[in-house]
Amino acid sequence: MDEDTFRENFSQELKPHKTYLCYEVELQEDDAWIPVDEFKGFLRNQGADTLEPRCHAELCLLELIPSWELDKERHYRVTCFISWSPCPDCASQLAAFLGKNSHLSLRVFASRIYTKFAGYETGLRQLQAAGAQITIMTSEEFEYCWKTFVDHQGTPFLPWDDLDKYSKMLSKDLKGILQQNITLSSKMQTGHLQPLQIDQQKSSKSNELGAGPVAQAVRAPCS
Ligand SMILES: [Zn+2]
Repeated sequence: MDEDTFRENFSQELKPHKTYLCYEVELQEDDAWIPVDEFKGFLRNQGADTLEPRCHAELCLLELIPSWELDKERHYRVTCFISWSPCPDCASQLAAFLGKNSHLSLRVFASRIYTKFAGYETGLRQLQAAGAQITIMTSEEFEYCWKTFVDHQGTPFLPWDDLDKYSKMLSKDLKGILQQNITLSSKMQTGHLQPLQIDQQKSSKSNELGAGPVAQAVRAPCS
């Protein structure tokens, strides 16, 4: 990936209408994770501004993984660094994929939270419930991606303005989204809430999370 593409797509203050996804695979050996470098790369969503049939980046990855022919008797970890977090449909399909492929674990590091489609919070919780780890990218991950996936010509990663501020804010947002699952399910077990009330709580909570000019700028939707 060239430097401009990386910065234009992963900088949290921009909101391009496309999604880039960098991926890598590791094989579990006892307590260690051994990189499988032949399955490392990046891709972007198809359609919209390209000539291919429409396909979100995560689903492009799901189409790619079977071609790797990973040994189902062993355990692998797939790590994605993605410029927008998965939409509800992709989250659901990733969750289903994990359910059918117990030899794979998934970690998702997202630059921004994709809020275009209703139910995005439920999608992220569903993905987490399927065993995926979902985290917001910090300077550490941005720098790692720069070194690993960008044709940087030897230049060091230069953080953009307010990188840490955005990461902290989005991490707080994501934590709030993912924790609702735990909070609400425990309340349901004690009978304090009925499903309808939960939905109302979710929407009021998500409005709170979206408040503030910075939050709106970062979390605005794209296609
Ligand atoms: Zn999607």
